[in-house]
Parts: sequence; C-alpha cells; structure tokens
Amino acid sequence: MVAYSPMMQQYLQIKQDYQNHILMFRMGDFYEMFFDDALLASKDLDIALTAREGGGGEKVPMCGVPHHAAQSYIARLIEKGRRVVICEQIGDPKQAKGLVRREVTRIVTPGTVMEGQCLDDKNNNYLVAVLAEEQGCGLALADISTGLFKATQFTGSSAYNELIDELYRLQPAELLLPRSYQGVLTKMLAGMTNVLLTVIDDELFNIESARNIMERQFNGDWLHTGIERFVYGLRAAGVILFYLTDTQKRSLQQMKSPRIYNTNQYMKIDAVSRRNLELTSSIKEGMRWGTLIWVLDYTSTAMGGRLLKQWIEQPLLDTVLIEQRLDVVEELLNNLLLRAQLKDALKQVYDLERLAGRVAYGSANARDLLALRKSFDVLPEIKSLMANAHTEFLVKLIENIDDMSDINKLLLQALEDEPPLQVRDGGIIKDGYHPEVDRLRAALRNGKDWLAQLETEERQKTGIRSLKVGYNKVFGYYLEITKANLTQVPDYFIRKQTLANAERFITNQLKEYEDMIIGAEDRLAQLEFQIFNDIKSIVTGNLRRIQSTGSNLAVLDVLVSLAEAAERGNFVRPIVNTNKKINISDGRHPVVERVLKAGNFVPNDTYMDEHSSFVLLTGPNMAGKSTYMRQVALIILMAQMGSFVPASAAEIGMVDYIFTRIGAADDLAGGRSTFMVEMSECRDIVNHATANSLIIMDEVGRGTSTYDGISIARALVEYIHAEIKARTLFSTHYHELTDLEALPGVVNYTVSVHEENDEIIFLRKVLPGKVDKSYGIQVARLAGLPDKILDRAQDVLQQMEIISNGKRAAAEFQGEKGDSSPAVDINALCANCSDKYLTGELKKINVLQIT
Ligand code: ADP
Repeated sequence: MVAYSPMMQQYLQIKQDYQNHILMFRMGDFYEMFFDDALLASKDLDIALTAREGGGGEKVPMCGVPHHAAQSYIARLIEKGRRVVICEQIGDPKQAKGLVRREVTRIVTPGTVMEGQCLDDKNNNYLVAVLAEEQGCGLALADISTGLFKATQFTGSSAYNELIDELYRLQPAELLLPRSYQGVLTKMLAGMTNVLLTVIDDELFNIESARNIMERQFNGDWLHTGIERFVYGLRAAGVILFYLTDTQKRSLQQMKSPRIYNTNQYMKIDAVSRRNLELTSSIKEGMRWGTLIWVLDYTSTAMGGRLLKQWIEQPLLDTVLIEQRLDVVEELLNNLLLRAQLKDALKQVYDLERLAGRVAYGSANARDLLALRKSFDVLPEIKSLMANAHTEFLVKLIENIDDMSDINKLLLQALEDEPPLQVRDGGIIKDGYHPEVDRLRAALRNGKDWLAQLETEERQKTGIRSLKVGYNKVFGYYLEITKANLTQVPDYFIRKQTLANAERFITNQLKEYEDMIIGAEDRLAQLEFQIFNDIKSIVTGNLRRIQSTGSNLAVLDVLVSLAEAAERGNFVRPIVNTNKKINISDGRHPVVERVLKAGNFVPNDTYMDEHSSFVLLTGPNMAGKSTYMRQVALIILMAQMGSFVPASAAEIGMVDYIFTRIGAADDLAGGRSTFMVEMSECRDIVNHATANSLIIMDEVGRGTSTYDGISIARALVEYIHAEIKARTLFSTHYHELTDLEALPGVVNYTVSVHEENDEIIFLRKVLPGKVDKSYGIQVARLAGLPDKILDRAQDVLQQMEIISNGKRAAAEFQGEKGDSSPAVDINALCANCSDKYLTGELKKINVLQIT
C-alpha cells in the first residue's frame, strides 16, 4: 500500500464514487486530473501530462487546466463523450485548518450540458430515458438548456419498433437505460452514433420512485398533465428527474412539468426513411446542406430553427391543425409588409428559451440578462403588428405573446447597457437604481477628487512641485518624490519603496483614505453582485412567462420562414384531406430543384387513388425514378407539416406513415450484407404499413441474382397490393414486372428517355407506360467507361439476347410437342459467355435448330 498524502487520499475517496467519469479536482487556480483520468484527459485535450508527488515518494500522473478556461475544456471532454465531475474547494482555502474541504458540485454529461460551446443553436440537446417491457415501452426526454420535458409511451404489438423509431428521431445526446436489459437495447441502437449510454439501477425505474421524485420536484403541479395515465412514460420521466437531480446538484427550476405526447398524433416516419428522405441531415455527410430543412429554413431565431426541425420530423394528421398553419403561411406569403415587419423584429430576439434556462440554472451573467432585455424590447412592436394580422391563428399567436414589460422595465432600470462578463467585479448596476450603490460610488468618486486635492496640498506644504500621488497593487496609494527633492521630505512621510531615481512614501491620512476607498470598492462589488442575484431571482420567478413567450415566438418564426420558403421556391398551398387521393400537378423535388440550375428541373404529375394506388415505375438507371418517388414523399410530408409545396397544384389525402426502401446501405458494422439490409427493411414495411400509408420501394431485389430479385419483387408487389393496400410507388428496372398491370389498381409509369445512335438523352418526364429495355450500356457510356469495355459488353448482351430468344422459341416449340423440359440450359451458356473462345463457338450455333 502506498501511503498517499492527505490530499491524495481525499481525491481517491471522492474518485471512488465516479469510476466512469473524469474527475476535475480544484486546486487553487487549477482543475487537476490524476491517474488514468490524467492519461485520458491529456490525450483528449492535447495538454501536457506531468506527475505529482502523491505521498511516500510515489509519482502520480497529473494534468491540469486553469479554472477560468475550464468551460472550454469541459466542452471538449463532453464532445468526446466523456462524463466530467467537477469537484470544488468549499470555503476559503486561506482560512482552512489543514486540508481544504472539497465537494462535487456538478456532473456534466453530454445530455446535461448547459455550456454554450456544447450546444448547437438549431438543435435540441436531448437527454432521453427509456424502458421496454412486454406490455409496453416508455420514453421521456428533456433538454435542460431550454426546460423542455416530455414523455410518451407505446403499447401493442409494434411498441418496441415505435420506441426505436422515436429514439432515432430524437437522436439523443445521452440515453438512460435500466441496467438489466442494457445488452439488448445497446445492440438495437448500434446504428445510432454519438449517443452516450448511461445505465441506471432498475429500481429507479419503478412507479413509486417516479411518483416520489415528481412530487418532490413539482409539488403536485404535475398531476394535471395526465401523466398518471401513462405509467410507462411516467416511469421514464421519473428517471430523467432523478438523473438531473443527481448530476446537477441544484434546483431545476427551468424544467417544466412533463408534457404527454402521443406519437399517434403525428405522421410516422421510420428511422430508415428519415435518413433516406434526407429531412434534416444528408445521408452522406450528415450535413444540413441538401436537405429538406435546408430548403425550408429561413428562421430568424434559434428557437424557430429548433421548432422547424420538430415540425419537419413530426408532420400532423389533423386537418384542422394543418389548415391553421397553412392559413398563416398563406397570409404571410401574400402580406409582404407584415412578413418583413415580423422578420425584422424576430431577428432582434435572442434565444429566450436557453437564456431563461441559464437564468434558472444560475449560470446567467449580466450579458445574458441584457440579451433578455433586448429581446423584450421588440415584443411591444411584435404585439402591435397584431392589428395587421387577419388569420385567426396568427392573431391568437401574437395575442398570446406576453410583452414582458414589467421585467423589461426592471432590467432597463437596473442593468448597465454594456455590463462586463464577470459578475463579481461590479460595473453591472446602473446609477439611480439602488441608493447604497449610488452612495458608495459617490464616495469613490469623491475619494478620487480628494486624492487630487491632497496632491496639490502636499506640494504646497513641502514645496516639491514634482510630488505625485500614485497607486500600485502591492503598496496601494503612495506619494512619489524624485531623488533630487528627498531633502525636502517632511517627518510625517513614511518611506515604503525605493526606486532608481525616486522614493515612495505614505502618510497616515493617505492610508485612512485608502482603506475607505478600497473598502468601498469591495463593498460595491459585493452589493452589485447581490442586487444582480436578486434580479435573477425575480426573472426566475417569471420563467414560465418567458418560456411561453419564447415558444410563441418560435411558432411565429417558423410560419414566417415557411412563407418565405414558399415565396422563394414558388410553392403552392396544398389541399389536405382524408381522401385516399394524391393529385399533384407539376410536382418538383424541393432540394434537387434548388441544387440544379434554375429552370432545369422537369416537373412531373402524380395521380393516385383507389383505382390507381400502386405505381410501378420503370426506366433506365439515372432516368430520375428515385428523385420522382422521393419528391412525392416530400410533397406529402411538407403538406402535412403545414408548408406550401413545390407544385402548381396539389391535393393530398393524408398518409399516416411513410415507408421507404431506397438505395443500398451496407450495414457492414452490424454484420449485414446489402441484401440482408434490404430484406429486413422490406420486412418492417410489410409488417407495419397500413392502408393509409405511403410506401416507396426503389429497385428492390437488386442485391441478389436476377431471378431471385425478380421473384422477390413480384411477390412483394402482389402482397402489398392484396394485403396492405397502401399507396405505393415501386420502381424497378425489371421490365418483366410490368405485366403486373393486370392487377386492379396497379399502373405502369416510365421515366422517358430518348434514344439516338446508341446514346440516350434523359427527358425526366414520367409518363404512363413501360420500357422494355434497360439502357445499361448507354448509361455506362455516359459515365465514361472505356469504349473497349462498352463494345465488349454490347457483344455479350447480344449473345445473351440471342440465347434468351432462342430459349423462348425453343420452349414454344417444345411446348407444342408437350415436352416441358428446358430446351437449352441457359445458365450454363450464359456462364460461359465471358469466355471469348466459347462465345465465338456459340455464335455459330443456330439455337433454333437445337433441342
Ligand atoms: P434513378 O433513380 O432513375 O437512377 P435518379 O432519380 O437518381 O435516377 O436521378 C438521377 C439524376 O437525375 C439526379 O441526380 C438528378 O440530378 C437528375 N434528375 C432526376 N429527376 C430530375 C428532374 N425531374 N429534372 C431534372 N433532373 C432530374
């Protein structure tokens, strides 16, 4: 056993409880990390690893960061997915007898950060807790930076899948799981990146524990939310509160009592389809560029930006609510002046939700309060615009905005217009707000006048004209006399410091004054800090008003944004109803259209109803099949979120669920081949789609051999058509499938191309009908494959066509004879086609003559 020093023992004692965390141990002006923590942190933070004598001659690895820069270091550790424990010195170290007391004051994890550096303005930072049991699953989420707190639950046969989909939608920064089934869930979430999994003891997930902790936090002010009826949601919410209390170690006033939501209120979009449709993040780079939100986001506030994301992710199913939004978008689209006025005002609004969060949390500085004040300043202006608004929803929205005039007045009177960042050094409170502050300031000002006067007096008394009053940190105020005049110094001057060509003195009178001034400065700083905290408490007391004003402004901002997007994108108002019809004229893909040069996107119509609910889309690669199908999905989604749509007219019979199976995403990390992924996605679709869903399947069956592929694709079409009856767009380059048109409701469409001497031109026009050619070689030519390969491919293709035709003719011939055995073993022949010699031989065979 090493005999560690008392300080090291204290460290180890505290560290015991935080094995999975990095412990930042306050020592004077630094936070130090030791042992393995030091090894990890020095790498993560790229700072020097040193060592410290730990007692008994043992060197302990150590690294440290200065306390004033700690925030950014903590932020970097959090970004790396670490949990950080902050341990502070308690009380004044100078007065401590022996070892200074230390306590853990806060635990920072990815789901519980308040630090601005870790938070993305346009994204919520979610902490999520889940439980999954046979009878039901529960989920609760919180964003402590804004106070958002919600819970939901899932029951029934697809509960587990719905839970997973919701998790993928939320993309939590941190996920709390019961210890006992951590293994199972962890596996299911393998595809989710950047989430920190934190296990919590099972008993904290029980209902009693949840009720107790709710009661402690909200004092009965949570029963009205109806969460009692959502037992699974309530249990998850309890765990969130437990974890927040445990990590934050302070009041959580910014947390609202949990709101219940039901995912059935919203259109469902499974995790894969969210990705495929590139709603808020692109498949390849995970960027905003090239996504739907990129086209729709003209928000002026961070709050609006976050809400827009939620709207895109949760399209509605209630026509009344959708119409409400559309009405406002229409009004704001047409009333340019009102839109411009609202936008100008919104631009001046800061992130009220996060500012309120910081105030409640205690981490707000004077500049945060100033940002609140500046935001409040514009509220009356926004409210006055109500007179110009007509739509009921818009009028209500503006009416519900609280102009916060009382708090604004307080902040205006109390706060300096340009306060410093530091809240303890004074300079925060305005003159005239507090009599004692004014008095101390006057004393200080007088003191300075007095010093000037003293200088004049002493010059007269001593006759030294170069006598000067000065100040430095070590000696305080002094009188400075140059060497030449030292003989004239009177007795009551007390020598303090000798310089090269001058000496410095003090007098009793000067010392007295100095005490008064410095005392006043300290008192003033303390008093200002206290007043600042009082103001913060008043603001905290009005938190709910600020939060609700923030939410109303966010809605307003999103509606303004949608109107602007509609104008720029030349979108129209969709008719949204519950018919099973989709009728889009001149529909466009909002993102592809914007990326292409103006006017280069070819619009296309879509018509689906009971008699044509299954569109079978054929056309060569690159023709535009996938773009077309995504465009239909996006237009429906936009309509249901209350946005105008890229078309010349659109009637949308609402869909409850959008499923897509697009593209080949290998899940190599998960150990699944392309084909396996494709088939699992198809399984999820057929298991969960309803007659009101929209299904998009792009080239299913591609990942396996042609015959397998065709068979599976055909069976899928038949099943969806007969059993599910969902509106479906199904693209395929197996033109063999076009004969499925015989089924009622199945219609063939093709993306047209023009063929001219071995070259094809893509027309991008979707027309009724089918193609009977794949144009693979032409597309390869477009891609720039060398001629030698292309010519050879053309040869091979011809051979195969001859063989295939031969097979058909021979089969017909055999059929006439009543013999069903195959005439030619086409597989064997094809397999040999790559052999130059044999191909030559095959050419000589007249297949029509052999049996
Ligand atoms: P497919 O699915 O048939 O292979 P895609 O839908 O991927 O083809 O389209 C290929 C490319 O063609 C797209 O990247 C896009 O740039 C362009 N494209 C598709 N549809 C259109 C259209 N309607 N107007 C203009 N360009 C289009």
